[in-house]
Amino acid sequence: MTIQLQILIFAFLFGAAMGSFANVLIHRLPMGASIVSPGSQCPSCGTGIRWFDNIPILSYFILGGRCRVCRSTISPRYPIVEALSGFLTAAVVFRVGIQPATAALVLFTWALVVITFIDLDHRIIPDVISLPGTALGLAFSFAPGFPRPVDSALGVAVGAGFLFFVLYAYEKIMGEEGMGLGDVKLLAMIGAFLGWQALPITVMVSSLTGSLVGVGYALVKGESVRKFPVPFGPFLALGALVHLFFGVEVLQWYLGRL
Ligand SMILES: [Zn+2]
Repeated sequence: MTIQLQILIFAFLFGAAMGSFANVLIHRLPMGASIVSPGSQCPSCGTGIRWFDNIPILSYFILGGRCRVCRSTISPRYPIVEALSGFLTAAVVFRVGIQPATAALVLFTWALVVITFIDLDHRIIPDVISLPGTALGLAFSFAPGFPRPVDSALGVAVGAGFLFFVLYAYEKIMGEEGMGLGDVKLLAMIGAFLGWQALPITVMVSSLTGSLVGVGYALVKGESVRKFPVPFGPFLALGALVHLFFGVEVLQWYLGRL
């Protein structure tokens, strides 16, 4: 096995283990519960989960998707979040290699996973992630391998400013809220980590995929698109990941078509 492959497998396993913690954050942050104690519990019966039943991804399948004690079904979302965190961690390592920026970008992708699933469940993007995330992205920009501090700061200002303007205009024209301030703060965090250069692709991909899903949902359900039940945060996260992993390629493809 080549050393690169070993590193990628290690990155996946490490990311999957952090995905277990992401599951705890997704479950407990919106409730305002402590994220460190008690340890992982079955959401149904509250029994503490022992270490050998808490192996990322695998335990779900070994237990047949049920709690060992109360036999209630465990949401497949748990192994999905773990696999996604593992995959994104390996993808970051594959994309940028091992350098100072790697740790920051891995943290960034984990934050996007947690935000995505909390937003899907509760339609909120917790400030407790997006605000320190923005500060962290700005701080990291002084380290080598990142967007320059000025690009990072512009990313925050332009990202938040742009979405805030869209939010304001939408409310004025439609007379109702389209997005929340949580989305504004999320785009600020994305701008902080990836620099203002990431904003065009992030906004394009998120509004395109968001509209497609919204229209698709409306068609299937036979409801008005304006009753859009899907939160926007997951699409912003997707747009940021597309820029992170395919940024230059997407831009070249797009410009090549003009
Ligand atoms: Zn249980």
